[in-house]
Formats: sequence, structure tokens, C-alpha cells
Amino acid sequence: MKAKVIKSLLLVEDNLGDARLLRDMFNEAGSPVTEMTHVESLGEAERHLAARAVDVILLDLGLPDAQGMGAVRRAQAAAPRVPLVVLTGLDDESLAAQALQEGAQDYLVKGQIEARVLLRALRNAIERKVMEEALFVEKERAHVTLRCIGDAVVCTDLAGKLTFLNVVAENLTGWSWQEALGKAMTQVCRILNAKNREAIGNPMEIRSGPHRGGPLPSSCILVRRDGFEIPIEDSVAPIHDRQGKTTGAVIVFRDVSEARAMALEIIHSAEHDFLTGLPNRTLLNDRVNQSVALSLRHSNKGAVLFLDLDGFKHINDSLGHPVGDKVLQSIATRLVACLRGSDTVSRQGGDEFVVLLSELQQPEDAAATAKRMLQAVSEAHLIDNHDLHITTSIGVSIFPDDGLDAETLIKNADTAMYQAKENGRHSYQFFKPAMNARAVERQSIEESLRRALERNEFALDYQPKINLRTGEITGAEALLRWTHPVRGPVSPAQFIPVAEDCGLIQPIGNWVLREACRQTRAWEDAGLRLATIAVNVSAIELRSESFLDGVFAILANTGLRPSALELELTESVLMRHVESTETILQALREKGVKLAVDDFGTGYSSLSYLRKLSVDTLKIDQSFVRQITAVPQETTIVAAVIGMGRNLKLRVVAEGVETVEELAFLQAQGCDEAQGYYFSRPVAPEPFAKLLQTGVPRAALGPFAPDRLAQETVPVRPS
Ligand code: C2E
Ligand code: MG
Ligand code: MG
Repeated sequence: MKAKVIKSLLLVEDNLGDARLLRDMFNEAGSPVTEMTHVESLGEAERHLAARAVDVILLDLGLPDAQGMGAVRRAQAAAPRVPLVVLTGLDDESLAAQALQEGAQDYLVKGQIEARVLLRALRNAIERKVMEEALFVEKERAHVTLRCIGDAVVCTDLAGKLTFLNVVAENLTGWSWQEALGKAMTQVCRILNAKNREAIGNPMEIRSGPHRGGPLPSSCILVRRDGFEIPIEDSVAPIHDRQGKTTGAVIVFRDVSEARAMALEIIHSAEHDFLTGLPNRTLLNDRVNQSVALSLRHSNKGAVLFLDLDGFKHINDSLGHPVGDKVLQSIATRLVACLRGSDTVSRQGGDEFVVLLSELQQPEDAAATAKRMLQAVSEAHLIDNHDLHITTSIGVSIFPDDGLDAETLIKNADTAMYQAKENGRHSYQFFKPAMNARAVERQSIEESLRRALERNEFALDYQPKINLRTGEITGAEALLRWTHPVRGPVSPAQFIPVAEDCGLIQPIGNWVLREACRQTRAWEDAGLRLATIAVNVSAIELRSESFLDGVFAILANTGLRPSALELELTESVLMRHVESTETILQALREKGVKLAVDDFGTGYSSLSYLRKLSVDTLKIDQSFVRQITAVPQETTIVAAVIGMGRNLKLRVVAEGVETVEELAFLQAQGCDEAQGYYFSRPVAPEPFAKLLQTGVPRAALGPFAPDRLAQETVPVRPS
């Protein structure tokens, strides 16, 4: 220890004889005292201590200006950190003992002092003072720590009686330390195991063992003094004495209500969709897999329903995402209301929902639920003062029949959902294995399509349009033909949707347009003039940015009059993106290009909008023409559709005319033109050129051939 050398000693002694005696002892060889200052009163001592540091003070208790305890106290006040050894007379030992209690480190009795004893006393005093200081710092640190930490700390003795509580423990338990001290730990800190609500007893006896220490059961509950329960996390450790004997325990615990709540929240948000609060894909997959396992065990069935909203993008685009979000929330609420508590609705993202129905007796039960959901979704959603109408398409897969895991079942339900969309939306469809075959087929078509252009596998057929009054060929529709090297001819109804999906429709459409314009111009140059050549344009083409430039470039390159080109657009395309379509159509019309509404009557046209778009032609869909002979009593609809076109002052063309009866009816209703197998099938360019030269036979014009035409039948309108 440092006290080997005592650099500065202060001797406070008024008796000069005693002082000399002591000084002599210090001067002996081997003494550790290198410097000693002698003063004769406490006043002098105080002045010295104020000016200089000393290592130890030797204090006589009978000074002229201070005696006994008064001297001890003044010396300590002047140098609180300096060790103090007092000198007393033989008869003063009780005084000396008192001095020790006041904080002096040791005492020496005058007249019995030997050099060795003196020096040892001084050294010990210094050492003891250093230890006392360290102990004080240590205690203070522990005290401050216990006061400041956020954890509750309580200590008990061996019997489990409380010996200490910090402030946090007071707050958590509801007991003040004054009340709690000496009480049984189990009375003040009632801790239960959260799993079985069994009390955790005296920390000295609990299973984890006071000798080992460590955490208590992973989830515990503290029952507060008022009975309120708080989830806590806690640990217990034994307290040992110097011999290693256990004397008590420290229990540390903390309120984890917030942490637990947050953990629950994190688990919840990892498994739920933030927008609707519904389970997400992860949780659904889990539940589907569990449900499949149960169905196998109980030999019953279940279903996975894949829902995709029809035209949701339109709501998002036109009314904004906040409205779209509210629609999704509204739909989520309705779907939940359609189901049993044991079923699961999840949102997969976007406008897709997946529903799990477990424990079905028969697949038909899923159909009933699907119908309920179709109905629930389609009822108006009142959102931000908009009355919004939306429908959904649903695909259903049944387990275990259609799959044994979530991934397959959802994929198959998704496939069935596509079929439902194709069948005209707002409907449901059960999965059939053939649908997968179709998907494979589609894939193979897509691959072949990619090479079809460069391999020259495309060709155009032409089908004439006949003026029903004069019998003349007024124009033709160009229809795309694809001859697959292995499959042979593939119908456009089969490959056009695939081309649309995979982005090939643009180069293909471009080729069709160029070829049709080139051919028409070539016929014209050969003296075979057509009023119009009609080319079908799909929605995807129309929406492509380069569409207009493409059309104009082709007209310029082929040299065809713009007014000889008629573009056929289906009704649904025209009605869907009203504003952007209007701009494009306007640009086409300004050039003189004509426009026809294809498949008229199958969509939902707004008549006022049709008028505004100023299209030239309405092509009445085949399905109406078919009704003329198939369901004669419903011909009023056909008549109405024709009438509608005439009211809008448009040229009306009937598609798919196959029989003379259909022709007669159309003529009688004043339909302007017709197209169909009755006159000619779509044919290759050479036979079509011949047709242009010879015209369709007069007989083909049926009962109202021009020479037989009565004056009153059809009012002639300019075309
Ligand atoms: P669409 O534009 O409505 O064409 C009329 C369809 O009816 C053609 O079928 C035609 O062959 C058929 N048809 C004509 N007269 C009769 C008849 O009397 N009876 C019957 N049952 N059918 C008749 P196709 O050629 O199979 O074309 C089907 C659809 O494919 C077309 O319907 C059109 O939407 C699309 N399409 C054809 N070529 C093209 C093209 O070049 N581009 C685009 N985008 N679509 C095309
Ligand atoms: Mg067409
Ligand atoms: Mg059509």
C-alpha cells in the first residue's frame, strides 16, 4: 500500500516534552516519516491544513484551544479525508473510544508509546482511511445506481423478509419501503407464473435456486398492491457474506407491458395487411396448409377462393389512391361479413383477396359463399360522396382435390379467376385441370407467335361488305390469318388475346395495317377501287403512344387515301378510357380516317358519348343477327339496335349474315350494309380481287334485290 512513506505528518501537541519524544522516534533510522510539522494549538493546525496537504494527523486531545471531542471534530472538519490518530492520557481511554466512534482511525496512550507501535498505528490509520473512502464511494455508487436504474430491485433476508426496496420497486408494487421492510417478500411482491398462475414463492426456495440465480419463468406477472396485474421480466440472485454463506436474495424485475405489447404488435404487422388489417399472404399460407392437413385427417374438404376486382385500376386512376384505399377497406369489411369466424379472408396486395373456407361438406358450399361475396362486393360503396360500383371475379380451388399445399391451391384458384374474367367478370368459376392445359397451350402459342412475323406466317383475308340497297361491294374487312407450321391455321380469337397479353399485338397490328393499306392501294392502282378497307384495332394498340404516328406513317408510305381507311374498335375499348381515346380519335378524324364501332350491342355504350366521338359506322354484333332466325319473337332488340344507329345518323353494318331470312329482316329494318358468309367468307387477296370484278351475285341480295326493291322500303341516306 501507498502508506509506506509518510511524506507529511502534522503533530498537534502543546506539551513540548511529548512532542520532542515523538520527533525523536520519527528521526530513528528506517522511519517512514520524511517530513513532520509540529504545531501547538488547533487554531494553528487549522491554518496549516488549509494551506497544505498532509498524510496523517497526530492529535493531542488536551490542547489549549480545544479538548476532547471538540478537538476531534474540528480536526475532521478541517481535513475530512486525512486519517486521524489521537493521543490520550492513561486515564482517558474512554475518551479515546469515543474519538474512534467520531471517525478517528486509532489512538495512542501517552507514556506507553514505542516507536514500532507508533509507526504501525500511523500506517494502519492511513490504510484504514483509504479503505473507508473506497467503501464509501462504493456504497454511494450502489445507492445511486439503485435509485436511478429503471428496474425494480428488492432484497430479502434468508427468511424471505424484505430488507430493501428501491423507488421503482415502490412504484411497481404500490408499497413504500417503510411499510414493506420486514414484511414477507411474497406479501409485497406477489409474482405469478403467467402460464399457470402459480405463485413464485420465497426467492430463497424457488426452483431456479438461490444458489444459482438467474431468470424466473419466462413470463411472470406481478400482482400490485391494488390487485392490478403487470407482466414482468425478472431475475433473482443470492447475496453471500464473506464466508460465502447465503444471507438473502436480490430480485430484479421490470415492467414489460410495453415491450410485450410492441412484440405482439410486431408479430401482428408481420402477418397482416396494413391497409385492411386482414391477414396477409404469409399468415394465409400458414392457415391453408394447416387446413389442408386437417381436411386430410377428417376426410372433409375446403376451398381457396381467389378474388380480383374488376376495373379497380380505373377507380384508382380516376378518383385517386385515397379513394381506392377506402374501397379496398370497404370490400374487406364486407367480405369478412360474408364468412364464418373460422374462415380467413386475406389481402394479397393490390386488388386481390384470397379466402380460405375450411371444413366444407361439399364443394357446392364454396359456390354459395362465392355468390354471397359477388353480391356483397357489388352493392354500392359510398366513399367520399361517391356512390361507387365495383364487381369482382372469383376463382375457386377445392382441397384436397385441386392441390395439397397453399401455393398450388392459390395458383389454381387464380387460374380459375382468369377464366371467370374471360367469361364476362362479376362471376365465379371452379378450377378445372383443363385450365392448366389451356395455360400451357397459351404459353406455346406465345412462343410460336414471337417467330411468326419474321417467318411470314401471317396473311390477310378480306371479307366484302355489301350495300343492301344496291348490292354493290362497298368495302372489305381485313382479317388476320395465322398458319402455324405444325398446328396449321390458328383462329385470331385464339391468338389475338395472347398477342395482346405479351405485347406482340403492336408489331402484329402494325403489319396488318401496312399490308391492308398496301393491298388496297395496289387494287386501286389496278382499277379495283374500294370505298373503305376496315382494319381491326385492339385496345392495347390504341393506347400505345406510337399508335397515331404509326397509322399516319403507313398511310404516307403506302399512298392510300386516309378516307379509304376505316378502323374498327370494339365498344368496350371506346368506353373505357374515354378522355385519352377521344384525343386519339379526334386526330384520326382530322386526317380523314373513318371509325367503326365493332361488336356494337355487346358492351355498354353511352349514346351521347358515341355521338360526341363522331364515329361513322356501327357494326351490329353477330349475336343479334343470329337472334333474327333463332328467336324470332325477340327481333325487336335487333330492330332497336338498328334504329339506334340510324337515329345517331351512323352507317349501320350487320355482321355475320348467314341466311336469306336474316338478310330480309335487315333490309326491311333499313340496315345499310351487311357482311357475312351469306355473301362471302373472308377470302385471300386473289379471290377477293375476282369478287371485286364480278360483284356478288344479284340473287344473293334476296327478296329486296334492287330490281325488286319497292320504293317505300328504305329511305336512302348519304353514306
Ligand atoms: P370481328 O372484327 O368481329 O370479325 C368478324 C368475325 O366474324 C371474323 O372472325 C369473321 O370471319 C367472322 N364472320 C364473318 N361472317 C360470318 C358469318 O356469316 N358467320 C360467322 N359465324 N362468322 C362470320 P375471325 O376472322 O375469326 O376474327 C375474329 C375476331 O378476331 C375479329 O372479330 C376481330 O375482333 C379479331 N381480329 C381478326 N383480325 C384481326 C386483326 O388484324 N387485328 C385485331 N386486333 N383483331 C383481329
Ligand atoms: Mg371487326
Ligand atoms: Mg365484330
